[in-house]
Amino acid sequence: MKSRRFFLQKAGLSALALNLTPFNPISAMTQDIFNTKQDEKPLRVAIMGLGSYGTRVANAMKDCKRAKLVGVISGTPSKIEAWQKEYGIPAKNCYNYETYHQIKDNPDIDAVYVITPNGLHMEHAMGVAKAGKHVICEKPMAINAAEGKKMVDACKAAGVQLLVGYRMHFEAKTQEVIKMRMNGDFGKVLFFQGLSGFVIGDPTQWRLNYPRSGGGAMMDIGIYSINGSRYMIGEEPIWVTAQETKNNPEKFKEGIDETIQFQLGFPGGAVASCLSTYSMNGLDKFFLNGLKGFAEMQPSTGYGPIEGKTHKGPLTNPHVTHQTTQMDEMAAIILDGKKPLVPVDGEEGLKDLVIIDAIYKAVKTGEKVSLV
Ligand code: NDP
Repeated sequence: MKSRRFFLQKAGLSALALNLTPFNPISAMTQDIFNTKQDEKPLRVAIMGLGSYGTRVANAMKDCKRAKLVGVISGTPSKIEAWQKEYGIPAKNCYNYETYHQIKDNPDIDAVYVITPNGLHMEHAMGVAKAGKHVICEKPMAINAAEGKKMVDACKAAGVQLLVGYRMHFEAKTQEVIKMRMNGDFGKVLFFQGLSGFVIGDPTQWRLNYPRSGGGAMMDIGIYSINGSRYMIGEEPIWVTAQETKNNPEKFKEGIDETIQFQLGFPGGAVASCLSTYSMNGLDKFFLNGLKGFAEMQPSTGYGPIEGKTHKGPLTNPHVTHQTTQMDEMAAIILDGKKPLVPVDGEEGLKDLVIIDAIYKAVKTGEKVSLV
């Protein structure tokens, strides 16, 4: 953080309206050909935060039919230069965190995908909304429900859409199970188990730094079990209980949860029993049980291929890179008003944040926390 700030100061941010690399006419030509081949208008997206996941999204977008990467917002000039070359991004669509508000004057960008650390999502998303561009924001949408609510309100006030990067909502096997549940194939659903975790490395990373992360494993990976319990069961929870285990308080400091087991109660009588951890590897499993059948997915939320079976047999839907499908579907949501099978809007992101707040409260108080 300190070194990053130092670097940004050294780099002389104000000078970086970022005409670092000359406009690449060949890439531009490729893009124009791409454009004219499209039957429908593409969603022109700028990615903010060119880190590990931003790079994954950018590569996945190479195969998109409706969404197109056209711009970047970054605090690292060398990354901007590399991305301009890799993705044919013109200098006029390159910004840093000081200049990105000027994106409001750029008619060639429709939406900004915020892929920065969690603790910056609210500031960045609200800045983008203020600039009049649609916001796609990574999960968790913010670090608590109060922040999330501000984001929802700001996007409404600005008349822009706010979507959250819930890629699993578009994944074929996941959708198959959701459709089976909607059709009543599992009968009355009474139990869900979600296991989400991995062993986190470098203790100096932002994920273990409270102001940047807003929490520990729950914010990062446990959220998949929360969100998954909601789309698998198809109801909103009405109560939460939770218990934390912290074996390494040195690494997982105050506010950074290492392992939390939590339970969610649903109005139809179902219970979800979930585990979120930064200290166990390979935890990526969903199990749904109803009176007439079951669904089991493992891996259930990783980058795939997702594997799973139900009482009717294996799930066989083909694997497509999650972020490719997500971005094309989000283009259809934003441009055509398409209604997704499971919502991915700001209200959906906010629901998970309300539950996360309640889980932290339940850990702290040891009490059952009502969500109604
Ligand atoms: P990284 O650390 O790899 O990248 C974050 C990027 O944010 C940095 O590279 C940097 O890009 C930018 N940034 C801006 N300000 C800061 C700062 N103060 N400290 C550090 N980075 C800063 O993180 P990830 O890409 O793994 O995660 C980013 C977001 O994506 C998180 O919210 C995470 O939860 C989410 N995510 C979602 C996944 C999913 O499957 N949906 C998977 C992985 C992550 P630059 O140098 O260009 O400014």
